[in-house]
Amino acid sequence: MTGCSVAKGLLEGHPHLTVTVLEARGLTRGASSRNGGHIVSPSFWEFPSLVEHFGPKAAVEIAEFTVRNCEKTFDAVEAISDPELNDQSEIRKVQKLIVLTTERHDYVRLVESEGAVKEFGLHNVAGVAVSKAGAVWPYRLWTGIWAYLQKKYPERLTIETYTPVTSVATTKSDQGPARYTIKTLLGDVGAAKVVYCTNAYSAHLLPPLRGKIFPIRGNMSAQDAGPDFPNLGASRSWSVISKRRKDLASGTQNYGLYYITRNPHTGHMFVGGEDDILDNLLSSDDSRMNPMSAKKVFEVLPKFYQKTASKTVPLKVWSGIMGFSKDGVPVLGPLPEMVTGRSEEKIGLPPVSMGMEQVTATVVVWL
Ligand SMILES: Cc1cc2nc3c(=O)[nH]c(=O)nc-3n(C[C@H](O)[C@H](O)[C@H](O)COP(=O)(O)OP(=O)(O)OC[C@H]3O[C@@H](n4cnc5c(N)ncnc54)[C@H](O)[C@@H]3O)c2cc1C
Repeated sequence: MTGCSVAKGLLEGHPHLTVTVLEARGLTRGASSRNGGHIVSPSFWEFPSLVEHFGPKAAVEIAEFTVRNCEKTFDAVEAISDPELNDQSEIRKVQKLIVLTTERHDYVRLVESEGAVKEFGLHNVAGVAVSKAGAVWPYRLWTGIWAYLQKKYPERLTIETYTPVTSVATTKSDQGPARYTIKTLLGDVGAAKVVYCTNAYSAHLLPPLRGKIFPIRGNMSAQDAGPDFPNLGASRSWSVISKRRKDLASGTQNYGLYYITRNPHTGHMFVGGEDDILDNLLSSDDSRMNPMSAKKVFEVLPKFYQKTASKTVPLKVWSGIMGFSKDGVPVLGPLPEMVTGRSEEKIGLPPVSMGMEQVTATVVVWL
């Protein structure tokens, strides 16, 4: 989604540029198609830690940015004005229920009347807050936008899939006119500028980022919640928030967040969230899953929703790799020489929408 947003921003805002996308796998096979399709600001959950690390003023600015980001996603799709993209991607605005499982959170204490909790069909919860969000079928959204860009800019956009980049170097004066030589397994590409949209894999091309941006494997699941759970997928989504837990003895980490959307047509519930040992979570392999999380994710709905049978029926579980930064905020902007090993002239970034939120650590860099 970052690559798509950047390509779109460049093509629309800079008519003299041509854009070549070099993708190691198939188009949209990374986290962008494997996620929960929840278009949300994570601020409610992350705000306390933002205040702790960056102070209240910056925390508010970041929170407002994440809300604008959600709005921009809808604006971008609306501006494309393609009914097929809307239909296929099932993009929709929803009311998000933020379900709090314990009364005391680090900074938030919220207790709702029993009536309100009942109104939403919940049990075993301390309270509920209501907020705005969106939901989407992410693979269809991003491939739909790529298709739109290819159609609109056939002369200026080239997409090379299954073309892993192995290095980027400054071109030597006798090697050609392009400022950079990008080496790929299929040959070299010359470019005047390079933007890395490589998420969890950024440190592979930029080794000084190792340990600063690192992969975290997340699980997603599709579940059948049974016939008694009303299908409000067209108008509602859910986040279940509990205290973050770390058990040093077992090495288990619980992120304290489950996020849930529902497909309005099929009724499938999409539930994601992590509760697993660090060795499983710190992985860049999305052909495997986090085994503990893969079981626990089926206990979420029955625990908090009255009308869910004691067990939901698992339909599918899959994983995706997220890039996390050490301080939890996105990495964005010109790369310093200490990261690239090259001295670079800095130029401004064009306006770029990052798409959905929870873009935890993507490097978008202008060299
Ligand atoms: C299970 C799960 C659930 C999630 N749920 C949500 C959610 O509900 N809502 C939300 O907002 N966010 C969610 N996220 C987070 C969101 O999916 C990511 O933040 C977002 O997809 C990051 O997009 P990206 O384009 O930066 O990275 P990616 O989609 O990972 O794309 C990076 C691309 O770079 C390519 N690449 C890497 N190295 C190279 C190389 N050397 N050469 C060529 N290509 C390379 C990769 O192949 C990949 O296609 C979830 C993530 C996961 C894993």
